[in-house]
Amino acid sequence: MTIVTRFAPSPTGTLHVGNIRTALHNWMWARAHGGRFLLRIDDTDAERSEERFVDAIRADLAWLGLHPDAEERQSARFDRYQAVFEQLRDAGHIYPAYETAQELDLKRKILRGRGLPPVYDRAALALTEADHARFAADGVRPHWRFKLDRATPIVWDDLIRGPQQFDAATMSDPVIRRADGSWLYMLPSAIDDREMGVTHVVRGEDHVTNTALQLQMFAAMGAPPPAFAHEALLTGAEGKLSKRLGSLGVDALREEGIEPAAIVSLLARLGTSQPVEPHADPAPLIAAFDFAHFGRAPARFDERELAQVNARIVHQLSFDAVADRLPAGMDETTWLAIRPNLETVAGAAEWWRVIEGPVDAPAAPDDAGYLAQAAAVARDLDWSSDPWHALTAALKEATGRKGKALFLPLRRALTGLDHGPDMAALLPLIGRERAVARLDSKAGA
Ligand code: GLU
Repeated sequence: MTIVTRFAPSPTGTLHVGNIRTALHNWMWARAHGGRFLLRIDDTDAERSEERFVDAIRADLAWLGLHPDAEERQSARFDRYQAVFEQLRDAGHIYPAYETAQELDLKRKILRGRGLPPVYDRAALALTEADHARFAADGVRPHWRFKLDRATPIVWDDLIRGPQQFDAATMSDPVIRRADGSWLYMLPSAIDDREMGVTHVVRGEDHVTNTALQLQMFAAMGAPPPAFAHEALLTGAEGKLSKRLGSLGVDALREEGIEPAAIVSLLARLGTSQPVEPHADPAPLIAAFDFAHFGRAPARFDERELAQVNARIVHQLSFDAVADRLPAGMDETTWLAIRPNLETVAGAAEWWRVIEGPVDAPAAPDDAGYLAQAAAVARDLDWSSDPWHALTAALKEATGRKGKALFLPLRRALTGLDHGPDMAALLPLIGRERAVARLDSKAGA
């Protein structure tokens, strides 16, 4: 059996961390089993769906490296939905109803007032041919409900949540189609999952109740259902559902210098019993991916943790992987030397500016003598191994300076900054010639 998964976003907005995670797990599961990963654009809602969001979703997935094997669109499949709708309607699984939203609301209020669950009373099933004819004559068109089979308990073994059980008698027959003929999410999704050969539906646990209803739709279609994995939702670092998390997307993360591999590494493991590890190449993450590792508690997404994972990814990135994002002229040796000190690839620019110069060092009249001494030491230093430690050790010895008085004037003269990249890593890249010139220029020489 070929494993087929799908990521099914509605193009009503851009992807956020939560649905990126869903996409990732679907992709990983398919990749782990030599299967297929589908991108299904759930655009039955023509009013709320926008083409620019479809483009953004594609671009975000591509940037993350989650390449779909095929793309499907619900708006291209209305004839299929119509065909199945007619079959299910003719077999008595779908029925027309006419209650207005206000009428339904009132019914629910009455039931709640009596302490009963607000389940639809199926009044529409009692309508006669004459009733239907009257509605039609008045120009009232029905909406359509799927008739749940209340006699059969709904059960499935969720790959994350374990055995699940629902009683259809406590659930309302879901509306699957509006009076204007437009589709609600529920039935088209089940039809697609069936016809696209989806073997595993991986999605957030906010869909658990939908799954109970959709299992009955699979049964009505005479189709074996896919396996289901419902993931605990993400929360913010404070343990609460955060607004920021709901809007935090690829654009913002990319702007902060977050690498796709950092997002993949963190989201692959968040909420699982496996440790979060930085992997520039997702292959080991894919190989070790299993729903059995997922817990049922909400997973905490912490941007600081992402930044840490990101730094560790940056430290692994090869020159070739970043060359087109580095300052013009920066070579492989320099990249490899500064890489361990960076939190983001963009941070290379600061180093490059300091290495190449010119640096705009503040005037240092009080330190002129000290810097003249430093220039002299630097000129005669062995630059082959660790010039910064050699320079500061020699100056400490010669001047008795220590701490800030020893280091800060040197850093300022050499870099023009009070703080910044690690001097021990930086000085060999600045090199003897530039270093001596910078020290000299502040030495009043
Ligand atoms: N379009 C639905 C959503 O974004 C898809 C849910 C599903 O995976 O079936 O919630």
